[in-house]
Amino acid sequence: MSKRVLVCNRGEIAIRVAKAVKELGHTAVGFWTDNEPNAPHLEYCDIWIHLPGSDNTTTYLNMELILEKASEYEIDAIHPGYGFLSENTTFAKKLNEKGIVFIGPHAEAIEKMGDKAISKQVAKEAGVPVVPGSVGEVDSIEEAKKIAAEIKYPVLLKAVAGGGGKGMRVCNDDKELEKNFEPVKREAQSSFGNPGLLVEKFIVNPHHIEVQIIADKAGNVFHCFERECSVQRRHQKIIEEAPSPFIGEDQEVREKICQTAVQLAKQVGYDSAGTVEFIMGEDKSFYFLEMNTRIQVEHPITEEITRVDLVANMIKAAFGDSLDIKSQDQIQILGHAIEYRICAEDPVTLLPAPGEVVSFDYTFPQGVRFDHCIYPGFEVRPEFDPMIGKLIVVGYDRDVALRKSREALSNLYLDGIKTNKALHEIITTEENFIAGKYSTHYISEVNPVERVESLKSDDDLILKALSQELNYMRDVNEVLHY
Ligand code: ADP
Ligand code: ADP
Ligand code: MG
Repeated sequence: MSKRVLVCNRGEIAIRVAKAVKELGHTAVGFWTDNEPNAPHLEYCDIWIHLPGSDNTTTYLNMELILEKASEYEIDAIHPGYGFLSENTTFAKKLNEKGIVFIGPHAEAIEKMGDKAISKQVAKEAGVPVVPGSVGEVDSIEEAKKIAAEIKYPVLLKAVAGGGGKGMRVCNDDKELEKNFEPVKREAQSSFGNPGLLVEKFIVNPHHIEVQIIADKAGNVFHCFERECSVQRRHQKIIEEAPSPFIGEDQEVREKICQTAVQLAKQVGYDSAGTVEFIMGEDKSFYFLEMNTRIQVEHPITEEITRVDLVANMIKAAFGDSLDIKSQDQIQILGHAIEYRICAEDPVTLLPAPGEVVSFDYTFPQGVRFDHCIYPGFEVRPEFDPMIGKLIVVGYDRDVALRKSREALSNLYLDGIKTNKALHEIITTEENFIAGKYSTHYISEVNPVERVESLKSDDDLILKALSQELNYMRDVNEVLHY
């Protein structure tokens, strides 16, 4: 039966979700706010609801207003996307009370897995290896120092409620731990509303490898293999690929990490799309990091290599329907996919750079999927995440995907705002990345940003030469007209 599904998000993910809602025969309902009256996701929605206001607390984070609108418009289910209320247990519970389906896992799974301290305990109970360190929260500097002495420096202070790479600080000795403890606690309180901290061994030269889970209410739990997300800045992913070049042809490790993720998902009765994140050392030993109980930014690369529609299956699971996939062996890896997060940021400082897109165009090779919310005139606003698009490239193998990536990036034109496109172009021609040899320290060690800087000054020189040329022609013109 056709349902009314409210897409409780904006930007590229709202478009992605609305597409799946409609494809399944449901009605897609979208929000618009005062600062985004022309939000491009509305084009994909059948019903539009106005959320008055232009800051997130009064709109996309305003649970009471969202619930009110949901009742008024007789909404059957809500898809939260990522960020905003996607991992908020209270929101999921409130929807349940009102008889509205939350498109995500059951509330208890969010509660258990959304907190980095509790989820570590659950993982330990399930026999899943966890990063050495405090199992629960640490309450004092003294306790943190005691744990650091046991696991040895460097350690990482981490907010239990953290996300998006925020609320984390590396400490190399007691002095740094003392200096960072209170500031990280305050940051955790102000960013996530929870001051709780963990102390973890900081793994050196690791790989961020995560496993995609898709599960239903009948107890079926499948994995869709792994993604490597080690190209990061400030602990935030910027390029992801599937399968992982570091695991490579080591099918034993691949099978082990995927089965471990399934085991953990089964432990909490997981019943939706979700991701189990691990940190993998140079010797390929791996430890549980956290579970994201929602659809993730980088889900498309998995969709491209497995052909499993994760968003559509997530919606089906929430309504208690059966998944498209009936058994694990139906899910195979076909080729290689890479995602480049296109962010409105300064390519050198890597800091958000809001502004208005003046022109936007592309001519892509075969095999490119561009999930984005960009149009000429689109305003990148400071209150939203600077990620405005995801360039997803799939190829027969990694070399082909890289070849297509270079072609796609050089034919993506975005004017009016600063983006990290040049950084991606440099990385895709950099030898370590091409060889698939990189850890989470890649950006700081290989320093592709430095090359963006020199490119930029080259560009400036060319621009200067061009404007001199133009001025000269103008002069000549004037002389001729005279
Ligand atoms: P993913 O985990 O999907 O790979 P990110 O970690 O970058 O991607 O997070 C996805 C989005 O959600 C980002 O826009 C990020 O800013 C936001 N986000 C993630 N977790 C939180 C959180 N706990 N609080 C606020 N924003 C978050
Ligand atoms: P978030 O919720 O912000 O995504 P994560 O716990 O997933 O937080 O960590 C984000 C990134 O920080 C990881 O991908 C990794 O690069 C780095 N990181 C986290 N924990 C560790 C650790 N114990 N050792 C080394 N790096 C880590
Ligand atoms: Mg994470």
